[in-house]
Amino acid sequence: MDFRKNRYRGIDLHTHSTASDGTLTPPEIIALAARSNLAAISITDHDTLEGVRQISSTPIPAGLHFLTGIEISTSAPSAIPISGSLHLLGYGIDVDDPALNDVLAQLKVSRDNRTPGIIAKLNTLGFTITHEDVRLLAGDGQVGRPHVAACMVKKRYASDIDDAFNRFLGHGKPAYVDRYRITPTEAISLVRAAGGVPVLAHPALYGLPDFKALRELVEVLVKAGMMGIEVYYPEHSATVTRQLIALARQLDLLMTGGTDFHGDLKPNISLGTGSGDFLVPLTLFEKLTAAIS
Ligand code: AMP
Ligand code: ZN
Ligand code: FE
Ligand code: FE
Repeated sequence: MDFRKNRYRGIDLHTHSTASDGTLTPPEIIALAARSNLAAISITDHDTLEGVRQISSTPIPAGLHFLTGIEISTSAPSAIPISGSLHLLGYGIDVDDPALNDVLAQLKVSRDNRTPGIIAKLNTLGFTITHEDVRLLAGDGQVGRPHVAACMVKKRYASDIDDAFNRFLGHGKPAYVDRYRITPTEAISLVRAAGGVPVLAHPALYGLPDFKALRELVEVLVKAGMMGIEVYYPEHSATVTRQLIALARQLDLLMTGGTDFHGDLKPNISLGTGSGDFLVPLTLFEKLTAAIS
């Protein structure tokens, strides 16, 4: 790719399709990326490669690069005070890697087992909501809490998706149900063994008390083999972005970025541009792809 000619084009390396909790199909994401003049796109569904697999039979428009991806929900490393799960992105993985696919099959079971538990808690709280209601919203993809949240909004039990998470579905809230997760060390090893690059997703979103704690988290993960951090993310402030760039330089880490596009399930976030003026520099992509084994 001629990086000088493409200097003003952006990339989006964090998107969700209908295979998890996004509302566009993988081919629709590719088409939208091309229409939006993006230079590179990755689909990073939660704990599944089914969406990425569909792309192997989709022609990629000229001028757009596609990178395989995933976002794995893991437990928190011991000794780091995170509520909820940690998200690890994996880029450039072999989608047919047997070890990775075995673990993803186990995670699918843990997800499938969680949904009835969430529904039961919501029923106890007095909401009329069935597994079938939620399944219909998820279509062929795997069910995530945003589908449950969307169902609650549709039935007017919550004003919007955030409201449903804040009052019922978020970690520690009355309809929260935990599920089996792998450790970050396992996720990092699996991604690397599948030929990919493991990257910490949205580092500023784990509710850590300060940047020192965040740095400690990153250092623990780097010792486990993590190779990069998601520096550019719509919810990262300018200050946090600058701090993350400095940290990546100090620790010699790759930098990535993306919008966390979910289609209609995150209606304020557009592909490539987030809430309007977001842009991930294409130069990051060159370094990332050079590191993929
Ligand atoms: P799951 O993988 O099913 O546990 O759901 C995780 C998804 O829920 C992620 O895509 C997040 O974007 C979304 N999510 C988590 N917490 C919140 C929140 N407080 N408000 C809105 N969405 C959330
Ligand atoms: Zn999601
Ligand atoms: Fe995430
Ligand atoms: Fe995401």
